[in-house]
Amino acid sequence: MLRSNVEELLKQCTSRFVKSQIMPQARKWDENKQYPLENMKKFAELGLLGLRIPKKYGGSGRGLLDAVIVLEQIAKADASTAVNLHVQLNASPLFVMLYSGEEVKRKLLPALVSGKALFSMAQTEPEVGSNLTELRTLARVEGSYYVVNGTKTMITMGSIAHVHLVYLRFDDDNSIGCLLLEKETKGFSVGKSENFLGLRGLGSTELVFQDCRVPKENLLLKGPGSLRKMLTLFNGTRVGLASISLGIAGAAFEEALKYSKLRTISGKPLIAFQGLQWKLADMAITLEAMKHLVYSAAKDTKLNGFPDQFTSSAARIFSSEGAIKIANTALDIFGGYGYSKEFPMERYLREAKGMTFVGGTIDVLRNAIGSYLSKKNM
Ligand SMILES: Cc1cc2nc3c(=O)[nH]c(=O)nc-3n(C[C@H](O)[C@H](O)[C@H](O)COP(=O)(O)OP(=O)(O)OC[C@H]3O[C@@H](n4cnc5c(N)ncnc54)[C@H](O)[C@@H]3O)c2cc1C
Repeated sequence: MLRSNVEELLKQCTSRFVKSQIMPQARKWDENKQYPLENMKKFAELGLLGLRIPKKYGGSGRGLLDAVIVLEQIAKADASTAVNLHVQLNASPLFVMLYSGEEVKRKLLPALVSGKALFSMAQTEPEVGSNLTELRTLARVEGSYYVVNGTKTMITMGSIAHVHLVYLRFDDDNSIGCLLLEKETKGFSVGKSENFLGLRGLGSTELVFQDCRVPKENLLLKGPGSLRKMLTLFNGTRVGLASISLGIAGAAFEEALKYSKLRTISGKPLIAFQGLQWKLADMAITLEAMKHLVYSAAKDTKLNGFPDQFTSSAARIFSSEGAIKIANTALDIFGGYGYSKEFPMERYLREAKGMTFVGGTIDVLRNAIGSYLSKKNM
């Protein structure tokens, strides 16, 4: 599935790093609901934060496929760390690259590469999740500033990020758009921290904006067509999320396969029983299909460099649901031990379930596919 030696090398280097630096600590981070900030520092040192940032801003200018390779490997050890990195690779900084002025790019992109400016992406509000056209956070135009009021909730990296990409409504033209709000802005505060079932290392919090004055140069998108542009960027974001589900599923499958060869019943390994072989066979088939969907979506650039709505949504829906099935069966294969926190199987299942919500629910993506199909000429 990987096309070049560079891609294969990236996979192997990331995998080695993950096994030594992330895997041994993932259980502790999950139990303590701890945001592993040290990972971001290591990612900066390894050049991973700049993976997709153009060379002229200090990055290496690589594409979505490379991000997917890295995220899959990291998610095998800790899906929270992968989601946090995903936001830096496939979400907010891409908006800056595409829609910011040169001065803002020069300020923020090199700072991201060095780990000094980490981003969040803030869409969800306490009363508005799936339907972004109903957002209530409001930006009022006042001279050379936007004055922002509202609350966001469940924001990954909310407690850590230096720059929040905020989706909101503009009062003058009623359009949905977005701007960058820096954490030092007066009137900004971090609200309550989330206590999720899984993905507990995301640093997820509420964000509260009370008369925050944001300079106009921090505007990214406003006016007719802005929401459409934001949604096109989501196509790439979905593939990044799908690769994290793929990583979780891969880890669960590998653990279950290993265990089925070691654990014996009546002198025979579990894998000698046909009932268990069938479970493992179904897991292997699902995993293979997930890989094909995710990697072909990551290579698809037909929409101005982004994958299209169908390809990206299909990859994310299938991978999210596949990861839940695989993690659930893998837990079963471990018997009662699978249900114990001594083993990572129960964490994989909690992480897999969480991935159906991050970046919007997969049910809403089915609507995206429905709308794509209704417009498609067969
Ligand atoms: C671990 C985690 C991390 C997150 N990180 C972020 C983040 O970084 N930034 C951010 O902005 N948000 C984040 N979120 C929030 C997430 O994006 C929202 O939870 C999601 O968009 C759904 O919104 P909601 O929770 O308000 O559900 P609602 O919109 O209230 O939906 C409730 C239910 O209705 C279904 N539904 C809604 N509309 C339709 C429809 N038209 N047709 C069919 N079914 C529908 C949904 O699928 C869901 O099952 C995160 C959430 C989690 C759990």
